[in-house]
Amino acid sequence: MTIFDHLMAGALPASFVHQDEECVAFMDINPITRGHVLVVPRKSVATLDELDADLRGHLWEVARRVGVAQRQALGSLAQHLLVNDGKGASQTVPHVHIHVIPRYGGDTLRTVTRLIWHISLLAAKRRPRENGRDALEALAQRIAAAMPATGG
Ligand code: 5GP
Repeated sequence: MTIFDHLMAGALPASFVHQDEECVAFMDINPITRGHVLVVPRKSVATLDELDADLRGHLWEVARRVGVAQRQALGSLAQHLLVNDGKGASQTVPHVHIHVIPRYGGDTLRTVTRLIWHISLLAAKRRPRENGRDALEALAQRIAAAMPATGG
């Protein structure tokens, strides 16, 4: 079981923005930028190769919709969609996930620095920190309320 399996089972707290039969999306506990969301399949495998093509497509579509909702709810300008697809790519949680990382005006230096940190080997030694559950929950509710319908 991965930490994400425990979150999906409700055994640990998480702030969800989306849940369906195939996947969930919730706030990253240690966000690179404000509103950073992870899209995670319920199937507990480490890499995109281990998912079937329909599920891969569904995850990317949910990630796209999360980006729409972040722009609408948080005023972000655009977003990075990032997958550390395996341990050799500095993946720290061995359960495939798409990072949806919003970008705001004037945030280039800070965001790029944090992104490099995230994909560096140092990230594996970093302990996730609880970044304020109330704040994460408030952001999650705003993003969830702005999620467009499928295809929207
Ligand atoms: P990776 O380095 O595997 O691509 O990213 C794993 C992500 O999971 C990190 O951004 C980290 O902050 C996040 N993460 C790790 N543990 C938890 C947790 O318990 N809850 C949440 N919401 N995110 C987590």
